[in-house]
Amino acid sequence: MSLIPADVSVSDDDLSLVHAVHDFAQNELLPLDRKWDRGQSDVSEILPRLSEMGLLNLLVPHDLGGLGLSYRTYVAILHALAEWSPSTSVTVAVHSLVGGLIDRFATESLRAKCLSRWGEASSFAAFSVSEADAGSDASAAKTTAVEVADGFIVNGEKMWVTNGMTAEWLFTLVRLKGHPEREHFCGLLIDARSPGITRQKIRGKMGIRGSETAVISLSDVSVPAEQIIGRRGDGLGVCLKSLGRGRVGIAAQATGIAEACLTEMIAYARQREQFGRPIGKFQAIGDMIAQSAVELEAAKTLVWRAAATIDAGVIDRTATSMAKLYASEAANRIAYRAVQVHGGTGYVNECRVEQLYRDARITTIYEGTSEIQRLVIARELSG
Ligand SMILES: Cc1cc2nc3c(=O)[nH]c(=O)nc-3n(C[C@H](O)[C@H](O)[C@H](O)COP(=O)(O)OP(=O)(O)OC[C@H]3O[C@@H](n4cnc5c(N)ncnc54)[C@H](O)[C@@H]3O)c2cc1C
Repeated sequence: MSLIPADVSVSDDDLSLVHAVHDFAQNELLPLDRKWDRGQSDVSEILPRLSEMGLLNLLVPHDLGGLGLSYRTYVAILHALAEWSPSTSVTVAVHSLVGGLIDRFATESLRAKCLSRWGEASSFAAFSVSEADAGSDASAAKTTAVEVADGFIVNGEKMWVTNGMTAEWLFTLVRLKGHPEREHFCGLLIDARSPGITRQKIRGKMGIRGSETAVISLSDVSVPAEQIIGRRGDGLGVCLKSLGRGRVGIAAQATGIAEACLTEMIAYARQREQFGRPIGKFQAIGDMIAQSAVELEAAKTLVWRAAATIDAGVIDRTATSMAKLYASEAANRIAYRAVQVHGGTGYVNECRVEQLYRDARITTIYEGTSEIQRLVIARELSG
């Protein structure tokens, strides 16, 4: 099943691409994803293949050699990836988020320089905004930049950086020292190979273990002046606008996970027999399947609608936050039911729903927690 609604026509090329990604993810990513979950994760193992498939170039405009996909087709691809590898889905989503902000906010020369190579594994990117004391409140970020003759010197520590161990580019939110308050926040694109950068992998995650998460320390890191993203003072705005789009991608990751859970639930309910009949014949099990199917359909509709608003050039914060809130919470409920339908079998790692249950959990946390999405929706509605 796909995120693309049955009554919507997308181009044959886009449809073929989504199907090709679905098959690639099922055949090649699923076995890797299961291996990563058991502890041997290494994103660099898969980057060349993602690059070959065009998956690092999804949103880059045609004139810079990218696929220039609509946001709807893009989220359909994230959904297809998440069905088989939730970790790869977020890996691609974060890399694409950084490409998107370069496209919209960087100078023309930086945009052309970076995006013309964005599809290559060597351009892999991370979004380093959160810090130990700045999570939901990004404006509490303490990483500083001092402006010098030819650029900036950055000091601080970023936390929870997805793609952070392997990324070549780090979009980084900094606080400009010695500038008036309205110019405080600034976004910089930092070459991750610069002297002064050390990275440490965060281990022991509950789920999405195939996705890298890192702590990045920056000590007197030099950043050329032309690598500023937006103007001085625009940093928070660039982050929030990018997250407004990015969270629809996480919502699509959630629908992909939920789709996988529903498929597993139905298959098991048909095959497992108790009291002399398949458990799917019991009303309680049927209820869990029906409720999950309805919630998944509702989540997909919200995700598709939010992506359509982005394609229409309108960032409708209510629509994007509703999609993220509902899809991520529905994915968690559906994953819970998937384990329940499997009984004891679902409690053991051998069974895929055990992993999906853990993978679903992060979707209500990153790119804005559920509580923050409710705040945004309430604020938008109440003006
Ligand atoms: C695996 C993983 C990957 C991540 N990837 C990235 C990444 O690539 N880049 C990046 O910059 N960050 C990343 N993050 C960070 C992520 O975005 C934050 O964890 C998230 O925004 C929440 O911040 P926090 O963990 O500091 O929690 P806190 O902000 O401390 O929140 C704790 C609790 O308080 C609630 N809360 C906070 N403020 C309010 C409020 N005003 N009203 C009501 N409730 C509130 C929250 O909802 C939550 O329940 C990642 C995190 C994880 C775990």
